[in-house]
Amino acid sequence: MSNFNVAKFGGTSVANFEAMSRCAAIVENNPETKLVVSSACSGVTNLLVALANGVQDQQQRSDILTQLAEIHDAILNQLNDPTHAASEVYSLLDTVTSLAEAASIQASNKLTDHLVACGELMSTHILTQLMIERGINAVRFDIRDVLRTDSHFGRAEPDVAAIRELASDTLLPLCREHVVVTQGFIGSDEEGNTTTLGRGGSDYSAALIAEAVQASGLEIWTDVPGIYTTDPRIAPNAAPIAEISFSEASEMANFGAKILHPSTLVPALRHDIPVFVGSSKAPEQGGTWIRHQVESSPLFRALALRNNQTMVTLRSAKMFHAYGFLAKVFEILAKHKVSVDLITTSEISVSLTLDQTGTSGGAPSLPQAAREELEELCSVKVEHNLSVVALIGNNMSESKGYAKQVFGTLEDFNLRMICYGASQHNLCFLLRESEAKQAIQKLHVELFER
Ligand code: ADP
Ligand code: ASP
Ligand code: MG
Repeated sequence: MSNFNVAKFGGTSVANFEAMSRCAAIVENNPETKLVVSSACSGVTNLLVALANGVQDQQQRSDILTQLAEIHDAILNQLNDPTHAASEVYSLLDTVTSLAEAASIQASNKLTDHLVACGELMSTHILTQLMIERGINAVRFDIRDVLRTDSHFGRAEPDVAAIRELASDTLLPLCREHVVVTQGFIGSDEEGNTTTLGRGGSDYSAALIAEAVQASGLEIWTDVPGIYTTDPRIAPNAAPIAEISFSEASEMANFGAKILHPSTLVPALRHDIPVFVGSSKAPEQGGTWIRHQVESSPLFRALALRNNQTMVTLRSAKMFHAYGFLAKVFEILAKHKVSVDLITTSEISVSLTLDQTGTSGGAPSLPQAAREELEELCSVKVEHNLSVVALIGNNMSESKGYAKQVFGTLEDFNLRMICYGASQHNLCFLLRESEAKQAIQKLHVELFER
């Protein structure tokens, strides 16, 4: 299909009846939108995660279940004919109840994925019915029939080739006749077990599905009118960016800008699908276009923040003018499947941060066995409660003069590590978590507000 748009709506965009109605209006306004990917209603995934972690207290469990029922009931009650959607939602709530009981006895990643997936399964029943009632030829589709992943519960990896094949067999034909409403975040492995792509994963789902159906556009509808120069909750004068390149936006997502799941742009880039980010509350305000080619490539584009960083510092006099030391360090890290994110070295020490992938956002830790092996080689210091702030821009390592501006602004901060030079697009540094927001605020004023 040539003009084929995929629209993804995040949790706040489907939080209640009014919000869902705005999503429907956005779909109505673009006849090219054939596929809608929806998150769970705002707050629902957090409640389901709490249950999946195994709430022992029966009363607490039933309170959470009541909250879940209330969120969905409030929307169901405003539908003209809630019968079908309500019976599906209640039967999913029954599933949630029994899975929550099982989790209180023994929690597992597999069970968690099954449980948290119920959020998206419920919201899409309601959204489909709401769209039908507005006259949209909508049909609900269970994306687990297409979005094939491995069995890494909690952060499953998609099987792109399988997804494409399954999509062309089942999903694409349906999109020719209908507006298909489906779930973000969830998938299934080869055995049919429900999996999830990690928190915030609906963006990634939407991009994977857009790639599989060879869509010509992907819209990410959220609660802000585009990608801002930094998180507007941190810097009140942050401003939306009209156009940004894939490389810059990928760096932002990688360095923690919550607006996009870090992997979102990978499928879009593979298929050169332009991505639009806008606010479902105010679509008329426009948003950000992420494209291959952009008109301007400013030196400074944005600031991103990632908390919960773990820094490991390894020190040994043996490193002095010796060869093979770093190779040994990385051999040990690789053996224990420790993935490294940032790294800096000096004559006798090396500092690195641990990759957060697979930690569901918490601080990654250095496995004890890895630590013991490293200690045979050198001294090992592990520090937590750190944040990485990334300054995203263009041609940074080829430009002169701005380091003074950046580091002058940060003179009162204790920078623990600075990474610069490997990428044209970022300069990033590590500092105490308690100071990170303030560092962003100061940098934003200096680099983006003057
Ligand atoms: P959704 O539920 O729609 O996926 P998210 O809460 O995951 O929405 O992402 C949107 C939020 O991302 C915004 O409300 C904003 O606070 C945050 N955010 C972080 N960095 C940025 C940025 N650079 N530009 C815009 N929003 C950002
Ligand atoms: N509902 C999931 C979450 O809250 C996925 C998403 O919204 O992107 O993480
Ligand atoms: Mg999100």
